Amino acid sequence: MNNNIDTIVSIATPMGTGAMSVIRCSGINVLKIIDTFFNKKLSPRYAYYLNFKNKERVIDDVIAVYYASPKSFTGEDMLEITCHGGPVMYQLIISEILKINGCRLAKAGEYSERAFLNNKMSIVQAESICALINAKTKEAAIAARESLSGNISQDIIKIDNVILNARIQVEALLDFSEEDIETEGLKSIEEHLNGCKKEILEIANRLEKNRLLFETSKVAVIGKPNTGKSSLINYFAKEDVSIVNAKAGTTRDVVSKMINFNGIPITIFDTAGIRETKDLIEIEGKEKAIKQAAEANLVLYLYDVKSDIDNEDEKILDNLKAINSNIIVIANKIDLIRKEQLNIFKKNNNDFIFVSIKEDHNMAAVKEEIIKYLKICMQNSSPGVYKLENSKHLKRAYEIINKIHLGLSELELVAEDLKKAQESISMVLNNDNDDRVLSGIFSNFCIGK
Ligand code: GDP
Repeated sequence: MNNNIDTIVSIATPMGTGAMSVIRCSGINVLKIIDTFFNKKLSPRYAYYLNFKNKERVIDDVIAVYYASPKSFTGEDMLEITCHGGPVMYQLIISEILKINGCRLAKAGEYSERAFLNNKMSIVQAESICALINAKTKEAAIAARESLSGNISQDIIKIDNVILNARIQVEALLDFSEEDIETEGLKSIEEHLNGCKKEILEIANRLEKNRLLFETSKVAVIGKPNTGKSSLINYFAKEDVSIVNAKAGTTRDVVSKMINFNGIPITIFDTAGIRETKDLIEIEGKEKAIKQAAEANLVLYLYDVKSDIDNEDEKILDNLKAINSNIIVIANKIDLIRKEQLNIFKKNNNDFIFVSIKEDHNMAAVKEEIIKYLKICMQNSSPGVYKLENSKHLKRAYEIINKIHLGLSELELVAEDLKKAQESISMVLNNDNDDRVLSGIFSNFCIGK
Protein backbone atom coordinates (compact mmCIF):
# COMPACT_ATOMS: atom_id res chain seq x y z
CA MET A 1 0.00 0.00 0.00
CA ASN A 2 1.27 3.41 -0.91
CA ASN A 3 1.77 5.66 2.11
CA ASN A 4 -0.14 8.81 1.31
CA ILE A 5 -0.64 10.72 4.53
CA ASP A 6 -3.17 13.25 3.31
CA THR A 7 -6.80 12.43 2.92
CA ILE A 8 -8.01 13.99 -0.29
CA VAL A 9 -11.44 15.53 -0.82
CA SER A 10 -13.14 16.95 -3.88
CA ILE A 11 -16.24 17.18 -5.98
CA ALA A 12 -16.48 14.27 -8.44
CA THR A 13 -19.31 15.56 -10.59
CA PRO A 14 -19.02 18.66 -12.81
CA MET A 15 -18.79 21.89 -10.85
CA GLY A 16 -21.88 24.06 -11.07
CA THR A 17 -25.61 23.55 -10.91
CA GLY A 18 -27.15 20.08 -11.18
CA ALA A 19 -29.70 17.81 -9.52
CA MET A 20 -27.02 16.07 -7.44
CA SER A 21 -23.37 16.49 -6.62
CA VAL A 22 -20.99 13.73 -5.59
CA ILE A 23 -18.16 14.41 -3.17
CA ARG A 24 -15.31 11.96 -2.94
CA CYS A 25 -12.88 11.44 -0.05
CA SER A 26 -9.94 9.04 0.01
CA GLY A 27 -7.34 8.30 2.68
CA ILE A 28 -6.73 7.32 6.26
CA ASN A 29 -9.09 9.93 7.73
CA VAL A 30 -12.21 8.64 6.02
CA LEU A 31 -13.44 6.82 9.13
CA LYS A 32 -12.91 10.00 11.12
CA ILE A 33 -14.98 11.96 8.57
CA ILE A 34 -17.77 9.38 8.85
CA ASP A 35 -17.67 9.52 12.61
CA THR A 36 -17.60 13.33 12.76
CA PHE A 37 -20.43 14.09 10.35
CA PHE A 38 -22.64 10.98 10.51
CA ASN A 39 -21.84 9.71 14.00
CA LYS A 40 -22.59 6.20 12.81
CA LYS A 41 -20.66 3.11 11.74
CA LEU A 42 -21.16 2.43 8.04
CA SER A 43 -20.85 -1.05 6.55
CA PRO A 44 -18.72 -0.97 3.42
CA ARG A 45 -20.52 -0.80 0.07
CA TYR A 46 -23.94 -0.01 1.52
CA ALA A 47 -25.80 3.17 0.62
CA TYR A 48 -27.06 5.08 3.67
CA TYR A 49 -29.54 7.92 3.68
CA LEU A 50 -28.18 10.21 6.39
CA ASN A 51 -27.99 13.74 7.66
CA PHE A 52 -24.61 15.36 7.14
CA LYS A 53 -24.34 17.24 10.42
CA ASN A 54 -21.89 19.70 11.91
CA LYS A 55 -22.45 19.14 15.60
CA GLU A 56 -26.24 19.31 15.84
CA ARG A 57 -26.75 21.49 12.75
CA VAL A 58 -27.96 19.55 9.68
CA ILE A 59 -26.18 20.78 6.57
CA ASP A 60 -27.86 18.46 4.05
CA ASP A 61 -29.53 15.07 3.83
CA VAL A 62 -27.28 12.90 1.71
CA ILE A 63 -26.54 9.38 0.47
CA ALA A 64 -23.23 8.09 1.82
CA VAL A 65 -21.29 5.04 0.68
CA TYR A 66 -18.16 3.86 2.48
CA TYR A 67 -15.56 1.69 0.72
CA ALA A 68 -13.06 -0.02 3.02
CA SER A 69 -9.43 -0.34 1.92
CA PRO A 70 -8.30 -2.11 -0.23
CA LYS A 71 -11.65 -2.67 -1.96
CA SER A 72 -12.07 0.81 -3.39
CA PHE A 73 -11.17 2.75 -6.52
CA THR A 74 -7.99 4.13 -4.96
CA GLY A 75 -7.26 1.11 -2.79
CA GLU A 76 -7.56 3.38 0.28
CA ASP A 77 -10.56 3.93 2.54
CA MET A 78 -13.02 5.97 0.53
CA LEU A 79 -16.28 7.80 1.08
CA GLU A 80 -18.70 9.03 -1.53
CA ILE A 81 -21.33 11.54 -0.50
CA THR A 82 -24.18 12.38 -2.84
CA CYS A 83 -25.68 15.69 -1.76
CA HIS A 84 -28.19 18.08 -3.27
CA GLY A 85 -26.89 19.76 -6.41
CA GLY A 86 -25.69 23.32 -6.77
CA PRO A 87 -22.33 24.84 -5.96
CA VAL A 88 -23.28 26.18 -2.52
CA MET A 89 -24.14 22.81 -0.99
CA TYR A 90 -21.10 20.86 -2.12
CA GLN A 91 -18.80 23.72 -1.21
CA LEU A 92 -20.32 23.85 2.27
CA ILE A 93 -19.84 20.11 2.79
CA ILE A 94 -16.30 20.12 1.40
CA SER A 95 -15.30 23.09 3.56
CA GLU A 96 -16.61 21.25 6.65
CA ILE A 97 -14.60 18.12 5.78
CA LEU A 98 -11.47 20.18 5.13
CA LYS A 99 -11.59 21.38 8.74
CA ILE A 100 -10.52 17.86 9.79
CA ASN A 101 -6.78 17.61 10.28
CA GLY A 102 -4.94 15.87 7.45
CA CYS A 103 -7.65 16.55 4.87
CA ARG A 104 -6.96 18.64 1.84
CA LEU A 105 -8.42 19.29 -1.61
CA ALA A 106 -7.52 16.70 -4.24
CA LYS A 107 -5.44 17.67 -7.24
CA ALA A 108 -6.53 16.77 -10.79
CA GLY A 109 -6.27 13.03 -11.35
CA GLU A 110 -5.07 12.35 -7.80
CA TYR A 111 -7.57 9.54 -7.11
CA SER A 112 -6.45 7.73 -10.25
CA GLU A 113 -2.82 8.38 -9.37
CA ARG A 114 -3.36 6.75 -5.96
CA ALA A 115 -5.18 3.86 -7.64
CA PHE A 116 -2.15 3.39 -9.88
CA LEU A 117 0.30 3.64 -6.98
CA ASN A 118 -1.75 1.07 -5.05
CA ASN A 119 -1.68 -1.30 -8.02
CA LYS A 120 -5.37 -0.87 -8.63
CA MET A 121 -4.79 -0.05 -12.27
CA SER A 122 -2.02 -0.24 -14.82
CA ILE A 123 -0.55 2.76 -16.56
CA VAL A 124 -2.35 1.64 -19.73
CA GLN A 125 -5.65 1.76 -17.87
CA ALA A 126 -4.76 5.18 -16.42
CA GLU A 127 -4.13 6.42 -19.94
CA SER A 128 -7.45 4.96 -21.00
CA ILE A 129 -9.29 6.81 -18.22
CA CYS A 130 -7.61 9.98 -19.37
CA ALA A 131 -8.63 9.28 -22.96
CA LEU A 132 -12.16 8.46 -21.87
CA ILE A 133 -12.58 11.70 -19.92
CA ASN A 134 -11.14 13.71 -22.78
CA ALA A 135 -12.84 11.77 -25.58
CA LYS A 136 -14.44 14.18 -28.00
CA THR A 137 -16.37 11.62 -30.02
CA LYS A 138 -18.50 8.56 -29.33
CA GLU A 139 -16.03 6.31 -31.17
CA ALA A 140 -13.10 7.54 -29.07
CA ALA A 141 -15.07 7.03 -25.86
CA ILE A 142 -15.98 3.44 -26.82
CA ALA A 143 -12.38 2.63 -27.73
CA ALA A 144 -11.12 4.12 -24.46
CA ARG A 145 -13.74 2.21 -22.48
CA GLU A 146 -12.67 -1.06 -24.09
CA SER A 147 -9.05 -0.37 -23.39
CA LEU A 148 -9.95 0.50 -19.79
CA SER A 149 -11.43 -2.97 -19.31
CA GLY A 150 -7.82 -4.02 -19.29
CA ASN A 151 -7.81 -5.84 -22.64
CA ILE A 152 -4.63 -4.19 -23.84
CA SER A 153 -2.91 -4.55 -20.45
CA GLN A 154 -3.87 -8.22 -20.36
CA ASP A 155 -2.37 -8.78 -23.79
CA ILE A 156 0.84 -7.01 -22.82
CA ILE A 157 1.05 -9.06 -19.63
CA LYS A 158 0.62 -12.16 -21.81
CA ILE A 159 3.56 -11.10 -24.01
CA ASP A 160 5.57 -10.33 -20.89
CA ASN A 161 4.90 -13.87 -19.65
CA VAL A 162 5.87 -15.49 -22.94
CA ILE A 163 9.20 -13.65 -22.93
CA LEU A 164 9.70 -14.56 -19.29
CA ASN A 165 9.12 -18.23 -20.09
CA ALA A 166 11.56 -18.06 -22.98
CA ARG A 167 14.10 -16.45 -20.65
CA ILE A 168 13.66 -19.21 -18.07
CA GLN A 169 14.19 -21.84 -20.74
CA VAL A 170 17.31 -20.13 -22.08
CA GLU A 171 18.74 -19.72 -18.58
CA ALA A 172 18.07 -23.41 -17.95
CA LEU A 173 19.90 -24.41 -21.13
CA LEU A 174 22.86 -22.25 -20.14
CA ASP A 175 23.53 -24.63 -17.27
CA PHE A 176 24.08 -27.56 -19.62
CA SER A 177 26.98 -28.26 -21.92
CA GLU A 178 26.30 -28.04 -25.67
CA GLU A 179 26.31 -31.83 -26.10
CA ASP A 180 23.63 -32.30 -23.47
CA ILE A 181 21.18 -29.91 -25.03
CA GLU A 182 18.49 -31.43 -27.11
CA THR A 183 17.38 -29.48 -30.14
CA GLU A 184 13.83 -29.79 -28.77
CA GLY A 185 14.65 -27.15 -26.17
CA LEU A 186 15.75 -24.65 -28.78
CA LYS A 187 12.72 -25.38 -30.92
CA SER A 188 10.38 -24.66 -28.06
CA ILE A 189 12.09 -21.33 -27.39
CA GLU A 190 11.85 -20.47 -31.06
CA GLU A 191 8.12 -21.18 -31.06
CA HIS A 192 7.67 -18.97 -28.02
CA LEU A 193 9.54 -16.13 -29.67
CA ASN A 194 7.58 -16.38 -32.91
CA GLY A 195 4.36 -16.26 -30.93
CA CYS A 196 5.66 -13.20 -29.13
CA LYS A 197 6.47 -11.36 -32.31
CA LYS A 198 3.00 -12.04 -33.68
CA GLU A 199 1.32 -10.80 -30.49
CA ILE A 200 3.47 -7.67 -30.32
CA LEU A 201 2.62 -6.76 -33.91
CA GLU A 202 -1.05 -7.37 -33.29
CA ILE A 203 -1.18 -5.19 -30.22
CA ALA A 204 0.89 -2.45 -31.88
CA ASN A 205 -1.67 -2.40 -34.70
CA ARG A 206 -4.53 -2.16 -32.22
CA LEU A 207 -2.95 0.76 -30.37
CA GLU A 208 -2.35 2.40 -33.71
CA LYS A 209 -6.03 2.03 -34.58
CA ASN A 210 -7.02 3.65 -31.28
CA ARG A 211 -4.58 6.46 -31.83
CA LEU A 212 -6.47 7.54 -34.93
CA LEU A 213 -9.51 8.14 -32.78
CA PHE A 214 -7.80 10.21 -30.13
CA GLU A 215 -5.64 12.41 -32.27
CA THR A 216 -7.26 15.22 -34.09
CA SER A 217 -6.48 15.80 -37.72
CA LYS A 218 -5.48 19.30 -38.63
CA VAL A 219 -7.18 21.10 -41.46
CA ALA A 220 -5.96 24.55 -42.53
CA VAL A 221 -8.21 26.87 -44.48
CA ILE A 222 -6.16 29.11 -46.77
CA GLY A 223 -7.03 31.70 -49.37
CA LYS A 224 -6.89 35.35 -50.22
CA PRO A 225 -8.89 37.73 -48.00
CA ASN A 226 -12.65 37.73 -48.36
CA THR A 227 -12.89 34.41 -50.16
CA GLY A 228 -15.11 32.88 -47.42
CA LYS A 229 -12.62 31.12 -45.11
CA SER A 230 -14.31 32.16 -41.89
CA SER A 231 -17.73 31.47 -43.41
CA LEU A 232 -16.60 27.93 -44.26
CA ILE A 233 -15.46 27.24 -40.70
CA ASN A 234 -18.58 28.75 -39.26
CA TYR A 235 -20.62 26.61 -41.60
CA PHE A 236 -19.01 23.46 -40.26
CA ALA A 237 -18.82 24.56 -36.66
CA LYS A 238 -22.43 25.83 -36.81
CA GLU A 239 -21.48 28.70 -34.55
CA ASP A 240 -19.50 31.89 -34.85
CA VAL A 241 -15.85 31.18 -34.13
CA SER A 242 -14.30 33.93 -36.18
CA ILE A 243 -15.34 37.25 -37.59
CA VAL A 244 -17.17 37.17 -40.89
CA ASN A 245 -16.68 40.58 -42.38
CA ALA A 246 -17.13 42.01 -45.85
CA LYS A 247 -13.95 44.13 -45.51
CA ALA A 248 -10.86 42.34 -46.88
CA GLY A 249 -8.18 41.14 -44.46
CA THR A 250 -10.21 40.82 -41.26
CA THR A 251 -8.97 37.44 -40.02
CA ARG A 252 -5.53 38.56 -38.91
CA ASP A 253 -4.56 35.60 -36.87
CA VAL A 254 -5.09 31.88 -36.72
CA VAL A 255 -8.35 30.78 -35.12
CA SER A 256 -8.95 27.11 -34.47
CA LYS A 257 -12.03 25.03 -33.77
CA MET A 258 -12.55 21.35 -32.96
CA ILE A 259 -15.20 19.73 -35.10
CA ASN A 260 -16.53 16.16 -35.09
CA PHE A 261 -16.65 15.00 -38.70
CA ASN A 262 -18.55 11.70 -38.79
CA GLY A 263 -16.59 10.48 -35.79
CA ILE A 264 -13.26 11.91 -36.94
CA PRO A 265 -12.18 14.70 -34.59
CA ILE A 266 -10.60 17.51 -36.58
CA THR A 267 -9.15 20.85 -35.68
CA ILE A 268 -9.85 23.36 -38.38
CA PHE A 269 -7.67 26.46 -38.61
CA ASP A 270 -8.87 29.72 -40.03
CA THR A 271 -5.84 31.61 -41.26
CA ALA A 272 -5.09 35.13 -42.26
CA GLY A 273 -5.87 35.87 -45.88
CA ILE A 274 -2.82 35.50 -48.03
CA ARG A 275 -2.07 38.27 -50.49
CA GLU A 276 0.77 40.58 -51.35
CA THR A 277 0.72 43.13 -48.58
CA LYS A 278 2.87 45.71 -46.87
CA ASP A 279 0.76 45.73 -43.71
CA LEU A 280 2.99 44.34 -40.94
CA ILE A 281 0.20 42.65 -39.00
CA GLU A 282 -1.05 40.98 -42.13
CA ILE A 283 2.44 39.79 -43.02
CA GLU A 284 2.77 38.22 -39.60
CA GLY A 285 -0.61 36.51 -39.98
CA LYS A 286 0.40 35.36 -43.44
CA GLU A 287 3.50 33.65 -42.08
CA LYS A 288 1.40 31.89 -39.47
CA ALA A 289 -0.95 30.73 -42.24
CA ILE A 290 1.96 29.22 -44.19
CA LYS A 291 3.20 27.48 -41.03
CA GLN A 292 -0.30 26.13 -40.38
CA ALA A 293 -0.49 24.82 -43.94
CA ALA A 294 2.83 23.03 -43.56
CA GLU A 295 1.75 21.32 -40.35
CA ALA A 296 -1.79 20.43 -41.44
CA ASN A 297 -2.98 17.02 -42.62
CA LEU A 298 -5.08 18.77 -45.20
CA VAL A 299 -5.30 22.24 -46.74
CA LEU A 300 -8.54 23.70 -48.06
CA TYR A 301 -7.75 26.43 -50.57
CA LEU A 302 -10.57 28.85 -51.20
CA TYR A 303 -10.94 31.35 -54.00
CA ASP A 304 -13.72 33.67 -55.09
CA VAL A 305 -15.21 32.23 -58.27
CA LYS A 306 -16.49 35.65 -59.33
CA SER A 307 -12.96 36.86 -59.99
CA ASP A 308 -11.91 33.38 -61.19
CA ILE A 309 -8.66 31.73 -60.13
CA ASP A 310 -5.97 34.31 -60.95
CA ASN A 311 -2.17 34.46 -61.15
CA GLU A 312 -1.89 35.28 -57.49
CA ASP A 313 -3.97 32.20 -56.55
CA GLU A 314 -1.85 30.05 -58.86
CA LYS A 315 1.31 31.40 -57.25
CA ILE A 316 0.01 30.71 -53.72
CA LEU A 317 -1.16 27.24 -54.77
CA ASP A 318 2.28 26.44 -56.21
CA ASN A 319 3.89 27.52 -52.93
CA LEU A 320 1.40 25.45 -50.95
CA LYS A 321 1.95 22.36 -53.08
CA ALA A 322 5.65 22.59 -52.25
CA ILE A 323 4.91 22.29 -48.51
CA ASN A 324 1.78 20.12 -48.46
CA SER A 325 0.51 17.83 -51.17
CA ASN A 326 -2.94 17.33 -49.62
CA ILE A 327 -4.91 20.25 -50.99
CA ILE A 328 -8.56 20.57 -51.89
CA VAL A 329 -9.35 23.62 -54.01
CA ILE A 330 -12.77 25.13 -53.36
CA ALA A 331 -14.30 27.71 -55.69
CA ASN A 332 -16.72 29.71 -53.52
CA LYS A 333 -19.59 32.12 -54.19
CA ILE A 334 -21.10 30.37 -57.21
CA ASP A 335 -24.36 32.14 -56.35
CA LEU A 336 -22.76 35.29 -57.73
CA ILE A 337 -22.12 33.99 -61.27
CA ARG A 338 -24.35 32.85 -64.10
CA LYS A 339 -24.91 29.16 -64.78
CA GLU A 340 -23.23 29.28 -68.22
CA GLN A 341 -20.15 30.90 -66.69
CA LEU A 342 -20.08 28.27 -63.94
CA ASN A 343 -20.20 25.46 -66.47
CA ILE A 344 -17.18 26.91 -68.31
CA PHE A 345 -15.24 27.21 -65.03
CA LYS A 346 -16.17 23.66 -64.08
CA LYS A 347 -15.00 22.36 -67.45
CA ASN A 348 -11.62 24.10 -67.06
CA ASN A 349 -11.06 22.95 -63.48
CA ASN A 350 -12.77 19.64 -63.03
CA ASP A 351 -10.90 18.67 -59.87
CA PHE A 352 -12.09 21.78 -57.99
CA ILE A 353 -15.24 21.78 -55.86
CA PHE A 354 -17.66 24.58 -56.78
CA VAL A 355 -19.78 25.79 -53.87
CA SER A 356 -21.76 28.57 -52.34
CA ILE A 357 -21.24 28.61 -48.61
CA LYS A 358 -23.81 31.32 -48.21
CA GLU A 359 -26.50 29.43 -50.12
CA ASP A 360 -25.38 26.04 -48.78
CA HIS A 361 -24.77 24.71 -52.25
CA ASN A 362 -22.64 21.59 -52.80
CA MET A 363 -21.24 21.74 -49.24
CA ALA A 364 -21.90 18.01 -48.75
CA ALA A 365 -19.31 17.36 -51.49
CA VAL A 366 -16.74 19.38 -49.51
CA LYS A 367 -17.44 17.37 -46.37
CA GLU A 368 -17.24 14.10 -48.25
CA GLU A 369 -13.93 15.05 -49.85
CA ILE A 370 -12.46 16.17 -46.49
CA ILE A 371 -13.38 12.83 -44.88
CA LYS A 372 -11.95 10.92 -47.86
CA TYR A 373 -8.64 12.81 -47.60
CA LEU A 374 -8.40 12.52 -43.82
CA LYS A 375 -8.92 8.79 -43.87
CA ILE A 376 -5.87 8.54 -46.13
CA CYS A 377 -3.87 11.15 -44.19
CA MET A 378 -4.54 9.47 -40.85
CA GLN A 379 -2.70 6.37 -41.99
CA ASN A 380 0.44 8.45 -42.34
CA SER A 381 0.19 10.87 -39.42
CA SER A 382 2.59 10.78 -36.48
CA PRO A 383 1.52 9.40 -33.07
CA GLY A 384 0.87 11.53 -29.99
CA VAL A 385 3.43 11.51 -27.18
CA TYR A 386 2.12 8.73 -25.01
CA LYS A 387 1.07 6.42 -27.77
CA LEU A 388 4.35 7.21 -29.44
CA GLU A 389 6.21 6.09 -26.32
CA ASN A 390 4.21 2.87 -26.15
CA SER A 391 4.64 2.14 -29.83
CA LYS A 392 8.35 2.79 -29.48
CA HIS A 393 8.69 0.29 -26.63
CA LEU A 394 6.69 -2.35 -28.49
CA LYS A 395 8.68 -1.77 -31.66
CA ARG A 396 11.96 -2.00 -29.79
CA ALA A 397 10.92 -5.29 -28.18
CA TYR A 398 9.86 -6.62 -31.57
CA GLU A 399 13.12 -5.63 -33.22
CA ILE A 400 15.23 -7.17 -30.46
CA ILE A 401 13.34 -10.47 -30.68
CA ASN A 402 13.38 -10.41 -34.47
CA LYS A 403 17.17 -10.13 -34.54
CA ILE A 404 17.76 -13.05 -32.16
CA HIS A 405 19.87 -15.86 -33.59
CA LEU A 406 19.03 -19.03 -31.76
CA GLY A 407 22.40 -20.75 -31.86
CA LEU A 408 23.72 -23.02 -29.13
CA SER A 409 26.91 -21.04 -28.86
CA GLU A 410 25.03 -17.78 -28.54
CA LEU A 411 22.67 -18.57 -25.68
CA GLU A 412 24.20 -15.97 -23.40
CA LEU A 413 23.56 -13.25 -25.94
CA VAL A 414 20.02 -14.55 -26.41
CA ALA A 415 19.41 -14.34 -22.67
CA GLU A 416 20.71 -10.77 -22.67
CA ASP A 417 18.48 -9.78 -25.62
CA LEU A 418 15.39 -11.34 -24.09
CA LYS A 419 16.00 -9.38 -20.91
CA LYS A 420 16.16 -6.15 -22.93
CA ALA A 421 12.99 -7.06 -24.84
CA GLN A 422 11.18 -7.74 -21.60
CA GLU A 423 12.34 -4.43 -20.15
CA SER A 424 10.83 -2.67 -23.15
CA ILE A 425 7.52 -4.47 -22.75
CA SER A 426 7.35 -3.67 -19.06
CA MET A 427 7.89 0.00 -19.89
CA VAL A 428 4.46 -0.06 -21.56
CA LEU A 429 2.90 -1.61 -18.46
CA ASN A 430 4.67 0.25 -15.74
CA ASN A 431 6.58 3.45 -15.72
CA ASP A 432 6.61 3.39 -11.92
CA ASN A 433 9.84 5.21 -11.42
CA ASP A 434 9.24 7.84 -13.98
CA ASP A 435 7.46 10.61 -12.07
CA ARG A 436 7.62 12.88 -15.06
CA VAL A 437 5.60 10.48 -17.13
CA LEU A 438 3.15 9.90 -14.29
CA SER A 439 2.40 13.50 -13.49
CA GLY A 440 2.06 14.07 -17.24
CA ILE A 441 -0.73 11.53 -17.41
CA PHE A 442 -2.59 12.38 -14.24
CA SER A 443 -2.49 16.14 -14.62
CA ASN A 444 -4.60 15.67 -17.76
CA PHE A 445 -7.41 14.25 -15.63
CA CYS A 446 -10.14 16.36 -14.17
CA ILE A 447 -10.53 17.08 -10.47
CA GLY A 448 -12.29 14.24 -8.67
CA LYS A 449 -11.03 11.47 -10.96
P1 GDP B 1 -12.44 35.42 -45.27
O1 GDP B 1 -11.84 36.78 -45.24
O2 GDP B 1 -11.82 34.58 -46.33
O3 GDP B 1 -12.48 34.74 -43.94
O4 GDP B 1 -13.94 35.61 -45.78
P2 GDP B 1 -15.30 35.68 -44.93
O5 GDP B 1 -15.75 34.35 -44.52
O6 GDP B 1 -15.11 36.74 -43.90
O7 GDP B 1 -16.31 36.17 -46.05
C1 GDP B 1 -16.14 37.41 -46.74
C2 GDP B 1 -17.49 37.87 -47.28
O8 GDP B 1 -17.97 36.98 -48.27
C3 GDP B 1 -18.58 37.93 -46.22
O9 GDP B 1 -19.36 39.06 -46.43
C4 GDP B 1 -19.40 36.67 -46.47
O10 GDP B 1 -20.74 36.80 -46.08
C5 GDP B 1 -19.28 36.54 -47.98
N1 GDP B 1 -19.46 35.19 -48.46
C6 GDP B 1 -18.91 34.05 -47.98
N2 GDP B 1 -19.32 32.98 -48.72
C7 GDP B 1 -20.16 33.45 -49.65
C8 GDP B 1 -20.93 32.85 -50.72
O11 GDP B 1 -20.94 31.64 -50.95
N3 GDP B 1 -21.65 33.70 -51.51
C9 GDP B 1 -21.69 35.03 -51.31
N4 GDP B 1 -22.46 35.77 -52.12
N5 GDP B 1 -21.01 35.63 -50.32
C10 GDP B 1 -20.25 34.87 -49.52
